[in-house]
Amino acid sequence: MALAELQALERDAVMATYARQPVEFVRGEGTMLWDAEGNEYLDFLAGISVAQIGHCHPRLVAAVTEQAGRLMHVGNLFYTEPGMRLAKRLADASLGGKAFLCNSGAEAIECALKLARRYRRGGEFVVLEGGFHGRTMGALSATPQESKQAPFAPLVPGFRVAPRRGPLPLDERVAAVIIEPIQGESGIHPIDRGLLVAAREACDEHGALLVFDEVQCGMGRTGRLWAWEESGVRPDVMTVAKGLGGGLPVGACVTSPEYAPVLQPGDHGSTFGGGPVVAAAANAVLDVVDEEAFLAAVRAKGERLAGELTKLGLEPRGRGLMLAFHAPDAPGLVRKLLLDHRLVANASGPDTVRLLPPLTVSERELDEAVARIAAALG
Ligand code: PLP
Repeated sequence: MALAELQALERDAVMATYARQPVEFVRGEGTMLWDAEGNEYLDFLAGISVAQIGHCHPRLVAAVTEQAGRLMHVGNLFYTEPGMRLAKRLADASLGGKAFLCNSGAEAIECALKLARRYRRGGEFVVLEGGFHGRTMGALSATPQESKQAPFAPLVPGFRVAPRRGPLPLDERVAAVIIEPIQGESGIHPIDRGLLVAAREACDEHGALLVFDEVQCGMGRTGRLWAWEESGVRPDVMTVAKGLGGGLPVGACVTSPEYAPVLQPGDHGSTFGGGPVVAAAANAVLDVVDEEAFLAAVRAKGERLAGELTKLGLEPRGRGLMLAFHAPDAPGLVRKLLLDHRLVANASGPDTVRLLPPLTVSERELDEAVARIAAALG
């Protein structure tokens, strides 16, 4: 089907929630994507931090194919091994408690919100300016952006918004503070370590839960398995999704042991959550990502990319392979990069270009991407 036909179908049948670029992708391998005309692209977006180990990584394809051929779904009234194994691995590799498996980042946040409310009945939430936690009503209520929230009022009540650098308005009525250690959607803004420390102290003082949203910055993106590791500040609850499934929809809300018993039978659920195919995918992604040598390579590649962007005078911000730079017309530059230079990137806001390549990206591909950015900038 030609692109024009797809666009006609979209106009006819697809709710107009997305502003798509005029490209149809039909194949991916590693950092490369191919469009329907056979043109080859370098993917420095990875489906917004999802294709964590590149497109169609052989271990991921094998794990998914094997599981899909064996059993796809029975639901959570029964046991299947991949989900149990995934929950154990996630808990062991992070906060040591328990995990609730779900299907997306927003659902992971919904679970965290419910857990916090269950823990402190009627409790309120503190979120940061510039934070993004998803589009469902609870996650949207935690996302203090006027343009995204206003059309859907009234939202879930009880959210307090703090400036990105604090102070945090905590008292004994607060159930949880929810922070992305590196804000992604608002344009890659690492939160100061001082604020994370202050949040930990304030949560301890007032008996509130500290929730870190690792949906975008987790799963090795920054060169640590979890972005919070860099700060040394440990949350009570953590949300994960995006790169966890490497391309399949799987998310998780993970707690420390102390809060693992909060949600009880009947409190929460998901038909598809922790299904064997997506859990097999996530286990395969973790096999690759949760290795110190792999994470060290991500840190080195991140430094190289940031260094090369700096040489272009671009002042990148972020950590590891989660970087952004200022551009006066970011949407224009992103379109030019895509259509003229075959580099996939993203504009997060009018003046920020965001780069989130697969963590398996090679040094040669990093240098090639920088060369294409330089060419597009003229
Ligand atoms: N939290 C963060 C930090 C995100 O970046 C996103 C999505 O961009 C979400 C939550 C929501 O994830 P999803 O789109 O999978 O619902």
